[in-house]
Amino acid sequence: MQSMEHVPRMVAEPATIDGGNPEAARWRERDLAVLWHPCTQMREHPHALPLVPIARGEGAWLVGHDGRRYLDAVGSWWTNLFGHAEPRIAAAIAKQAGTLEQVLLAGFGHEPAIELAEKLLAIAPKQAGREPPAKVFYADNGSAGVEVALKMAFHFFRNLGEERRSKFVALENGYHGETIGALSVGDIPLYRRTYAPLLAEALFAPSPDAYAARGGESAEQCAGRAADALAALFDRHPGEICALIVEPLVQCAGGMRMHHPAYLRRARQLCDANGAFLIADEIATGFGRTGTMFAFEQAGAMPDLMCVSKGLTGGFLPLAAVLATQQVYDAFLDDSRERAFLHSHSYTGNPLACAAALASLRIFESDGILERNRATAAKMARLADAFRGHPHVADVRQTGMIVAFELTRDGNRATPFPAEARVGLRAYRAALARGVVLRPLGDVLYWMPPYCIDDAQLALLAETTRAAIDEATACA
Ligand SMILES: *Cc1c(COP(=O)(O)O)cnc(C)c1O
Repeated sequence: MQSMEHVPRMVAEPATIDGGNPEAARWRERDLAVLWHPCTQMREHPHALPLVPIARGEGAWLVGHDGRRYLDAVGSWWTNLFGHAEPRIAAAIAKQAGTLEQVLLAGFGHEPAIELAEKLLAIAPKQAGREPPAKVFYADNGSAGVEVALKMAFHFFRNLGEERRSKFVALENGYHGETIGALSVGDIPLYRRTYAPLLAEALFAPSPDAYAARGGESAEQCAGRAADALAALFDRHPGEICALIVEPLVQCAGGMRMHHPAYLRRARQLCDANGAFLIADEIATGFGRTGTMFAFEQAGAMPDLMCVSKGLTGGFLPLAAVLATQQVYDAFLDDSRERAFLHSHSYTGNPLACAAALASLRIFESDGILERNRATAAKMARLADAFRGHPHVADVRQTGMIVAFELTRDGNRATPFPAEARVGLRAYRAALARGVVLRPLGDVLYWMPPYCIDDAQLALLAETTRAAIDEATACA
């Protein structure tokens, strides 16, 4: 999911990462002989882009075959919550595997799927005067969850005979996954451009991104301006929009761009006023990442459909869930099979994944995670503060357990580094050589660590981030 476009043939010996360990070299050869890695220009491996053998995980650390340790500061693509190989989640999966590993969820059910649905509905965002979410539909990864929500919203209006209501509104700079449907509502050119001819048409509204605030404008005013543009878009398409899909508070893949919760409140009102659904993609922001269990809570509002995945299982197994209101569910009840929501995946509601998710939710309670995160986020804020005024840092921003640093040529927003300079990639390699995984999004470095990160690890993270920025910008 990371943009690492236009690779110059920078030659760095892989040995700078693993000290030339012969076992690591043999492993790398076997890997490259058979694997096609995700989100990677394979030609960059292993010289421009290191390929790191990982043997095991331990708390916030990833450990190489050669014993080298890497601090997983990006939570393994935003999935990991409590550290790697968390023993309570591992035990729950093992126990479930010895009881029931998988059963089709059509015509059959099982305890972990039911209990998890009960728990998710109980903790989901609520809003006074609205019916709470009532049903859970499972899928097996984030993109599939987004597909489910889009198809549900679209199908809902077909079932009501409102066939004109077929358009989706998404936000500029948004990201919802890589499948064709999810890409259709995504707006990151690097992932979208090539497949544009295949994609369904969507309408894009300006992002409320506070980094794009105009001179003197507050984050809230910036959100208000984006909401006005959204209102105008609804006005141009009366009765045509079936849903708005948003990543609440943080557009993660779009460079950890953050916005004021006032935008979500306005979006809620505009969807209501225009008879459209609001879909919250909480795949990256859910489960305590933004300071509350779900980001949407901070707007004091709730969506009609909510997608969760990534951290749902604590980072152990792929699983997604879409939470829907009774109103949505009821529109599918009929004598006709075609009016039913026939979407399915072989592993829908897999018992092992549900057991992992239940164990993860128990840890939130037993370990007081949300409270602990508040303290950790405050420490992250103090460490991040030291980067303000750095000659190459144009912005330091934070939402809960996400901190991002925007790198530019002279610390000014108007002077980004040219893409060819590959500053983000250079920073990535510099940090990796120092034992920290800081996989940037373009020239945005960010911290999205497992919640178990301790003070010493935070200090290492801050110190390495500074060294990586200095090294990457020195030669750009
Ligand atoms: C990662 C992500 C997805 C896609 O999830 P996958 O499991 O990678 O398919 C969708 N939406 C958001 C906001 C994400 O961050």
